[in-house]
Formats: sequence, structure tokens, C-alpha cells
Amino acid sequence: MSQVAISELDPTATVVVATGNAHKVVEIEAILAPVMPGVRFVALGELGDFPDPVEDGETFYDNALIKARAAQAETGLLMAVADDSGLCVDALDGAPGIFSARWAGEHGNDDANNEKLMAQMADVPDGERTARFHSSVVLVRGDEVLRGDGDCEGVVGRVPRGDHGFGYDPLFLPEETPGKTMAELTLDEKNKISHRFHALEDLAAKL
Ligand code: IMP
Repeated sequence: MSQVAISELDPTATVVVATGNAHKVVEIEAILAPVMPGVRFVALGELGDFPDPVEDGETFYDNALIKARAAQAETGLLMAVADDSGLCVDALDGAPGIFSARWAGEHGNDDANNEKLMAQMADVPDGERTARFHSSVVLVRGDEVLRGDGDCEGVVGRVPRGDHGFGYDPLFLPEETPGKTMAELTLDEKNKISHRFHALEDLAAKL
């Protein structure tokens, strides 16, 4: 990632985006920049190599707030934004939920997570396979906290399909795109229906 010196930034007109995922920075900036004129968006990774905070919250919102507050403290900037998201499956009482990234053990092992999801859902009949991706986005501005929440409803498939996206995308069929998994959508198509899109729109409406 290219590097930007914190000392070159206007501390009151910069939002640090607390994510290592470059796609998320683009997605967040595309929705928030129009409602935050004159503000620059910079990824945390562009400002240095900061340790990840411990995400020990009990909700998506808690963990998004932990990440946003850590980025704000580490950089000394006024504003930080972070999101936390995951898959909530009705037949599994909401699992994997906040544990989505590390459900199968190792953090971010998408193949292992999808294997586990297929195994746990093997005996769940069609019609009881409903699930949703949830995203909570938090913007901190000094002491102020603004939040946005969004869902993407769908069902869990039986076999992974598609090469796009990440995480559980190959096993998730959004309601809005019948017959297609999220991994069979282009990034643009996904970004129009995703949980993060809805959460960012919810947050943008409050700015
Ligand atoms: P994070 O909030 O981006 O760290 O996401 C946590 C975990 O939730 C990811 O590692 C994925 O397993 C899952 N997840 C979140 N958003 C998505 C998505 O858009 N598609 C597929 N999986 C997702």
C-alpha cells in the first residue's frame, strides 16, 4: 500500500478507514464522500503498520466501534470509519455471526469456513436455509459516534459456485438475484445489493 505521512493531512478533514481491504475503502468512499464534501478518505494501512485491536465485542456494532476508535487513537485524526460484518444463518441460530471470519479456526480461511457451513447445513431442508449478511458501519467524529446497519437477505446453497468476491459468497444466494450466488455477481452488481451498501446508505442518511 502507498504511504501517506499523517503530518501532511488536515486532522479535521480526513477520515481514516480502518480496513486492510482496498475494495472496502473504495466502496466506503463512494457512498460517504458525496455527503462529506471536502473530506479526504485514507486507508489506515497507508498511514503505517498499526496492530489490529482485539475484537472482543458481543455485536457487529461493538467490533466496528472498537476498530474505529483504535484507528482514531493510533492516527490522532478526528474521524475514523470501520465496519464489521458476517453471515447469520437462521437454522444455526444466527451462527457464524460475529465469528464469521474465524469460524473454522484460522482467521480468514474462507475454504475451511465454507466446508464447515456445507457440513452444518447438509441436513437442513430447502425452505429452511434462510440467512443474511449483516454489516454495521461506525463513523467516529471526536467523541461523537454515528452508526449505520444493513442486511442482505438470502439462502445458503448446497454447493459453492462462482469466482468473485470473498468469504461465504460462493454459498450465499441473495434474494435479489435468484439462482445466482453472490460469487457469481460482478463487484458492481454485489455492491448494489450488499449488506455493506445498505449499512453505508443508512449511515450516509445521518450525515
Ligand atoms: P469483515 O467484517 O470484513 O472482517 O468480515 C468478517 C467475515 O464475514 C469475513 O471473513 C467473511 O467470512 C464474512 N463476510 C463479511 N462480508 C462478506 C461478504 O460480503 N461476502 C462474504 N463473506 C463476508
